[in-house]
Amino acid sequence: TKWVLTFGDGRAEGRAELRELLGGKGANLAEMANLGLPVPPGFTITTEVCTHYYDNGRSYPSELAAQTEAGLEHIQKITGRVFGDAENPLLVSVRSGSRASMPGMMDTILNLGLNDVTVEGLAKGSDNRRFAYDSYRRFIQMYSNVVLDVDHHQFEDILEMTKERKGVSEDTELDADDLVKLVEAYKAKVLKETGASFPQDPRDQLWGAIGAVFASWMNARAITYRRLNGIPESWGTAVNVQAMVFGNMGDTSATGVAFTRNPSTGENRLYGEFLINAQGEDVVAGIRTPQPLTEAARIEGDVNAPSLEKRLPEVFEEFVRVSQALERHYRDMQDLEFTVERGKLWMLQARNGKRTAKAALKIAVDLASDGTLTREEAVERVDPAALDQLLHPTIDPKAERKIIATGLPASPGAARGELVFSSEAAEAAVAAGKKVILARTETSPEDINGMHVSEGILTTRGGMTSHAAVVARGMGKPCVSGAGMLRMDEKAGTLTVAGRVFREGDVVTIDGSTGQVLDGPVAMIQPELSGDFATLMRWADEVRRMGVRANAETPDDARAARRFGAEGIGLCRTEHMFFDDKRIVAMREMILSDDEAGRRKALAKLLPYQRADFVALFEIMKGLPVTIRLLDPPLHEFLPHTEKDIAEVSAAMGVPADKLRNRAAELHEFNPMLGFRGCRLAIAYPEIAEMQARAIFEAAIEAAKSTGAAVTPEVMVPLVMGRPDFDFVKARIDAVAQEVEKETGEKLVYQVGTMIELPRACIKADSIAETAEFFSFGTNDLTQTALGISRDDASAFLGPYVAKKLLPYDPFVTIDRDGVGDLVRLGVERGRSVRPKIKLGICGEHGGDPDSIAFCEEVGLDYVSCSPFRVPIARLAAAQAAL
Ligand code: ADP
Ligand code: MG
Ligand code: MG
Repeated sequence: TKWVLTFGDGRAEGRAELRELLGGKGANLAEMANLGLPVPPGFTITTEVCTHYYDNGRSYPSELAAQTEAGLEHIQKITGRVFGDAENPLLVSVRSGSRASMPGMMDTILNLGLNDVTVEGLAKGSDNRRFAYDSYRRFIQMYSNVVLDVDHHQFEDILEMTKERKGVSEDTELDADDLVKLVEAYKAKVLKETGASFPQDPRDQLWGAIGAVFASWMNARAITYRRLNGIPESWGTAVNVQAMVFGNMGDTSATGVAFTRNPSTGENRLYGEFLINAQGEDVVAGIRTPQPLTEAARIEGDVNAPSLEKRLPEVFEEFVRVSQALERHYRDMQDLEFTVERGKLWMLQARNGKRTAKAALKIAVDLASDGTLTREEAVERVDPAALDQLLHPTIDPKAERKIIATGLPASPGAARGELVFSSEAAEAAVAAGKKVILARTETSPEDINGMHVSEGILTTRGGMTSHAAVVARGMGKPCVSGAGMLRMDEKAGTLTVAGRVFREGDVVTIDGSTGQVLDGPVAMIQPELSGDFATLMRWADEVRRMGVRANAETPDDARAARRFGAEGIGLCRTEHMFFDDKRIVAMREMILSDDEAGRRKALAKLLPYQRADFVALFEIMKGLPVTIRLLDPPLHEFLPHTEKDIAEVSAAMGVPADKLRNRAAELHEFNPMLGFRGCRLAIAYPEIAEMQARAIFEAAIEAAKSTGAAVTPEVMVPLVMGRPDFDFVKARIDAVAQEVEKETGEKLVYQVGTMIELPRACIKADSIAETAEFFSFGTNDLTQTALGISRDDASAFLGPYVAKKLLPYDPFVTIDRDGVGDLVRLGVERGRSVRPKIKLGICGEHGGDPDSIAFCEEVGLDYVSCSPFRVPIARLAAAQAAL
């Protein structure tokens, strides 16, 4: 088996398509080498070795050692240097890389191959002792941290002390002699911490590093990241071993990162940062403040230090050429890492850049507009789930902004919450029901969980490409980074600015679009669908087959649904309409009545309210279909339960408290989810359904007159078990329709259908379809009833099910294709077998979940219905499902 593939010198054994085998980094290094771009030579140990390693008790395939030697040979031939050689040593980096990029999850080791002897060879060969020892101290720190598990603070403390003693603030101000001493101190530290000297044999170093990369695949941070991002464990990571090039060789050397377009806005302009005389992750680690690549960005950002364009113009020009070539080649925005060694550009990484949803839309629309992509490809490029970012609030432009500090606009959107200063504090506060802003000097992979639960992230250090910025953009969380005027004391839990001290629990608002940090909770506004967003949605609508409706019952929801392009209401839950002050009284009166006459009297009071609600909805929807579900929840939900509430209601209604208490006790159920609810209410008390039907039909006539558009209400009967219960309720609805027609002299056009949410209804779908004109799959309840899982009680055991891989995911988030999916398919087939044109939709929360929407397309539903704010997500997901 070939476990090792080489690259360099204008060719490679791998290529971009071999991402599964080589990991993203290795595949793209190979691709860049094949394109003839300047890539330091190296080799990739494949992901299959990782799989082998974990399948075989953490051991390597027997051929690996020889193939790795051959890989080193390949690098030595191209570079003319020899690994471990005292005169002319080859140094390498050891870099992990899995199929999907996992920012910061795996640690890269640079300058490997240095020891007390080779460091002298490097010094002589480069005629630069300072550089050689700078590389050595970096290597000792990285290697000790990643492989020997010595905390990096141990080294940073020594470095800080050295600088303090010398009275300097920058690493670059330390000279060769300082660094020689630093290396000695580092080695002593390693001996003290590990009980062994720092390994001097380069081959031991190499295998130590390779082992650490494979081991890191199973570290806690990597596992968390994979879980949050749905990356399977089976993928494994590759290891890249690559000749070092040096950005820390002096004033014509540098290291940098770039995006070919702005990853926040999508603007088509080279965007990035670099540092002169620096190495590796100095740029993103926030050790020194990086400089912008372009003059334009420097002027705009009001930065003093020169841009790369000014400082090293020829390198800059070549970099522009390379980055444009890569963007053309990959047909997408690129995220690039590069190093300049004494005026020579080297490319170290290329990948499709992570971006905000806003940038994703702009880039997709721009690339389709200039012909790089087709419109269909543009539609496929945007992750529907990411649109969620744009459907979040932004700060109301009219709101007063009490600006505390300004940092970098690292990830757009606004967020507000109580300040917390650690990941643990964030998790604890959120568990207690709070909303928080996580404030850190700079985040690290250990903060992932805290970032995930926070509303937004604030750092006092680090640039647009810092860990906080990259991860926040990936998560779609607002982030302000590098707000340097805030003095952070993480231990004390304070942020100080201009003498004012903010503590844990103080509320701030951050604006990730401007970089502002604001005092207190600031008003926010709801998002709009315009510009590139609207354009892409239009293209999505051109290819989409399924309709998209919204679940809405209030006029606000209905208007939001229209704004976001809903083509009707798929679920109007009428019970929400009975909770306001006046209506709840009439509702309770109805529930407390001893006989039908009493109930009818109370229902008559509810009728005008209910009718007005429907008129408002029909008017907003202007002739678009509106599906109205009859009363669904158990009646006890409308009664007071605490003694205090009972006393209040009793006084207000003039009903004895005992009567309230007794009625609540009568209605008490052991298992309300499977109890007296759904059409069972209409079967026991038909007058409730009759009142609702009357309200619907009278409203339809009224709204048709006021809007001039025909209104076709769809009356939906919940929780039917089969045709008999459906027919019983339908007969009442039809009777009311005839009465209303007679009273008004108007002709009504309406449909009566059912919500399919019991397994039996799926099985009996053929007979139900004989009389039902539409089905809407209520997959929330169908999931509960099919799996026998009460959603409200599931938290205790569903997690373990998923963790132990007994279920692939939470079936309340993504439809359980295997079981619930089969029931839906059965319902679709049997329903269509008797009524081929029956209208079929879905109205559970699955209707807004892209994976579930793909399932709906597969089984051929006519539409999905979801919450108004997910309508754009559903439109895009439905388009992608159709492609
Ligand atoms: P990550 O996956 O965290 O981005 P990388 O493997 O890309 O880690 O390494 C981080 C940085 O280390 C790179 O961006 C680059 O600056 C530096 N680096 C890696 N390999 C080399 C090399 N062979 N020569 C010089 N610098 C390197
Ligand atoms: Mg990194
Ligand atoms: Mg990298």
